[in-house]
Amino acid sequence: MERIHLDNSAARAVQAYIEYENIVGGADGGKLLSPEEYEEFKKQVAAQRANRLFVYWSNSSGLECKTIGPHSKCFCNHRYKDHFTDDVSTKKVPCRVPKCKCKQFDYVPVYGSNDLKCLCKHSYTTHNPANRRCEKPGCKCSQFSSTHSCTCSRHYNDHETKFYSKQERQAMGKPTDNLGGGGELYAAMGGLTDFSDLVDGIEREAVEPVEYAGKRYELTGASRRAVEAPKPQKGERQVRREGFTPLELYNMPHRLGK
Ligand SMILES: [Zn+2]
Ligand SMILES: [Zn+2]
Ligand SMILES: [Zn+2]
Ligand SMILES: [Zn+2]
Ligand SMILES: [Zn+2]
Repeated sequence: MERIHLDNSAARAVQAYIEYENIVGGADGGKLLSPEEYEEFKKQVAAQRANRLFVYWSNSSGLECKTIGPHSKCFCNHRYKDHFTDDVSTKKVPCRVPKCKCKQFDYVPVYGSNDLKCLCKHSYTTHNPANRRCEKPGCKCSQFSSTHSCTCSRHYNDHETKFYSKQERQAMGKPTDNLGGGGELYAAMGGLTDFSDLVDGIEREAVEPVEYAGKRYELTGASRRAVEAPKPQKGERQVRREGFTPLELYNMPHRLGK
């Protein structure tokens, strides 16, 4: 595979652009903001994003099966980051894509080119995102329904997309810091807080130490904390992913260490 080499200034420019994308998240309507507009934009969103929405796809027992991040798919077939995600007081998260009928982000467990089919045998994409009726000509389906099994073994129908404020998460005793520190201004961060959000809820139940940037993370349901990296024990399972930020890792289509 060919490698692309960037000199330092080009690498910095790419980094700056990625940072810009993460913060602006499409709010510029495709036209780059000027440096002054960009600074102004950051000031405007700083207060809102200090108290962003934390978003999870949970089953009816309250297990948070999926942590929603910028690239999570909505029933309307657009990403979380394509939605308006800054209204923490009303928790209204409508889609910003022109002509899209979606009024509220609702996660669909779809990866890559996979599909999620309704019991009427048609894709979720043929269903109206507002009233969930199938719009395939001749189909009488009035409500999308699926027996797709989640990693928690429950069906799709037994799940719900939930939105919380920072105060609500804190009251639940859940972490609210952003991935690896920093990123306070990023758009559409959803529920992403720490490294253990990168795996499914059911997998967080199992202890699986992960090392990142010299710190050791234990992925357990009860303790989601970073501890100083001890010397690796013989035969211990470790996953190293150096050189990526946690957000980049999250956006990659593969699962950790699987
Ligand atoms: Zn949409
Ligand atoms: Zn949507
Ligand atoms: Zn249907
Ligand atoms: Zn149908
Ligand atoms: Zn589940």
